[in-house]
Amino acid sequence: MPVASLPAPPPVKAPGTATHCPYCALQCGMSVAATEEAGVRDVVIAPRAEIPAGAGGLCQKGWTAGELLTNGSRLTTPLIEGRPATWAEALDHVAARLRRISAEHGPDAVAVFGGGGLTNEKAYLLGKFARMALRTSQIDYNGRFCMSSAAAASIRAFGMDRGMPFPVTDLAGADTVLVAGGNVAETMPPFVRHLARMRERGGRLIVTDPRLTPTAKAADLHLQLAPGTDLALALGLLHIAVAEGYVDEDYVAARTTGFDAVAISVSAWWPERVERVTGVPVALLREAARLLGTAKRAMVLTGRGAEQHAKGTDTVSAFINLALALGLPGTEGSGYACVTGQGNGQGGREHGQKADQLPGYRKIDDPAARAHVASVWGMDPGDLPGPGRSAYELLDALGTPGGPRALLLFGSNPVVSAPGAGRIAERLAGLDLLVVADVVLSETAAKAHVVLPVTQWAEESGTTTNLEGRVLLRRRAVAPPSGVRSDLAVLSGLAERLGHPEGFPAEPRAVFDELRRASAGGPADYAGITYERIAAETGVFWPCPAEDHPGTPRPFLDRFAHPDGRARFIPVNHRPADEEADEEYPIHLTTGRVLAHYQSGAQTRRIASLVRAVPEAYVELHPDLAERLGLADGDRVRVTSRRGGAEVPARITGAIRSDTVFMPFHWAGRASANLLTNPALDPVSRMPEFKVCAVRVEKA
Ligand code: SF4
Repeated sequence: MPVASLPAPPPVKAPGTATHCPYCALQCGMSVAATEEAGVRDVVIAPRAEIPAGAGGLCQKGWTAGELLTNGSRLTTPLIEGRPATWAEALDHVAARLRRISAEHGPDAVAVFGGGGLTNEKAYLLGKFARMALRTSQIDYNGRFCMSSAAAASIRAFGMDRGMPFPVTDLAGADTVLVAGGNVAETMPPFVRHLARMRERGGRLIVTDPRLTPTAKAADLHLQLAPGTDLALALGLLHIAVAEGYVDEDYVAARTTGFDAVAISVSAWWPERVERVTGVPVALLREAARLLGTAKRAMVLTGRGAEQHAKGTDTVSAFINLALALGLPGTEGSGYACVTGQGNGQGGREHGQKADQLPGYRKIDDPAARAHVASVWGMDPGDLPGPGRSAYELLDALGTPGGPRALLLFGSNPVVSAPGAGRIAERLAGLDLLVVADVVLSETAAKAHVVLPVTQWAEESGTTTNLEGRVLLRRRAVAPPSGVRSDLAVLSGLAERLGHPEGFPAEPRAVFDELRRASAGGPADYAGITYERIAAETGVFWPCPAEDHPGTPRPFLDRFAHPDGRARFIPVNHRPADEEADEEYPIHLTTGRVLAHYQSGAQTRRIASLVRAVPEAYVELHPDLAERLGLADGDRVRVTSRRGGAEVPARITGAIRSDTVFMPFHWAGRASANLLTNPALDPVSRMPEFKVCAVRVEKA
């Protein structure tokens, strides 16, 4: 879409085009100004104070994001089997191969994989392309690896998943905030400003994490639990809340169902037992429960540390049970929230790139949902495919008998980011056709038969939905390099070649207007959201069913989204990690992010200042463990699990438990943490167990 046809941004102090950061779900506001002097292009970034979530701040990644636009490693020509091709050649080739594979093996032989960083428009059109142009059920996305456990738990408790069902600025007014398994000080630093405001007012911060992260260091109380025991910890906190009389009985009676069964189920989780399982002293458990139970306004937040487990959905349910017992969700100034991670992690899970989902957060097996979406797409509901495989199951089936033989991949780098990454690389190698649309030659793109160079972030317009459910407008701020096309244009070009000259527009606004119609009446209803409103109101919260509707910052104040308006307590029980430490693999490995890098590192490992800040992967281990293993700081060590081995330097620090090592997951090759991680899946969300597995550590 030409820049001129977008609504004018609100006035900003910094020069440049008002848009948002390309990285995480905070979606900090930034202005982007491009200059060109003597043929040298430069991009200047400045924060936008009027966007509340970012609180006028940017982190190191945001400040340096302009380098993504001038980086020399940019792809600008389509590649077929490594040789440059024209766009017409590449799209003709892909369409012909897809047609042949589908004709020979059936439509499910073609799979599509998306990403939580894609704009709403891209996520929507990708889902439509898979179901309508390819007629395949085989579509899922990397957001399955991020927020899916919290999403599943929110749906079963509240009837709807709007990760953070209140503005992030509400945090400042809380008296106690519990962050379970989140390291916001490194993953989204401006978020800490809201917590700092809370603490300036005398509020208290509790953090659960196996590591003394920068977030845990800033907390009043750090519960340094063993990896994989978050569920036991949540059960123990609720046990204490019940025993100490912190339960809000009026709220429980008026707004929930199922409390009695949950109260009975946590009775077996007395504090001493929880201490034995988690390693967190009883006194700290009691203090955490007291801070939450006596606060006038309290919030319980979960991050990937609690969620990325084979029992992640039950773990989040346990934290939601705790929040419900204390009367927090749907109460102004209090609540439960998932701290979504990826840039469009919220919107990306709403509009149809998930295996079981249609736009508007509709379920694909719901006949009414199928009828509505099919009517918007102009097709027979009976022709819409049903649910497909979840992300890991899809990747693991590639090239196997009965599995997909072709994969179209947008906005994802699973060779680095999928659990058991070595096995996924083998699966990709077994495909008849791998097509990757990307900005740079990522590790996955390097394995593709066809690579399609696409526009990025500030070179295109579109909407994202930030972690608090606020729909935002990213504006095109700079011209893309010649030779690249947008993901929407790629889908449009392929759809045309597959017999759909209509229905796949390349202009973001046209796609968004169709998304509004497709989402109308669904849980994530965007019908009343327009580009003009987003610009005028600095974002609009969904659900927003009509243009004269104000949007819904706090959707649960009056009722929850279940038909009876009540939230559900869900009885859950603790169970060990899928893979516990044993004689052969005696140490827990947990993984996570560092401030300077983002996800698979495909972008941030190409930015000089971020590489200088953290140039390589490492393994963090406690001095006691290092001594036992005969390791010194900086030694190269081999970390081995049942799935593979990595070699990285040792970092010795007292900030981690002595039974656990930590590796950041942003690197590839022999430094890849995901060569080690365990793809055991949560039975509800199909989330892999990224956050705990058993390893051996030795000098390389
Ligand atoms: S990475 Fe996240 S926290 Fe950092 S500037 Fe971007 S949106 Fe803000």
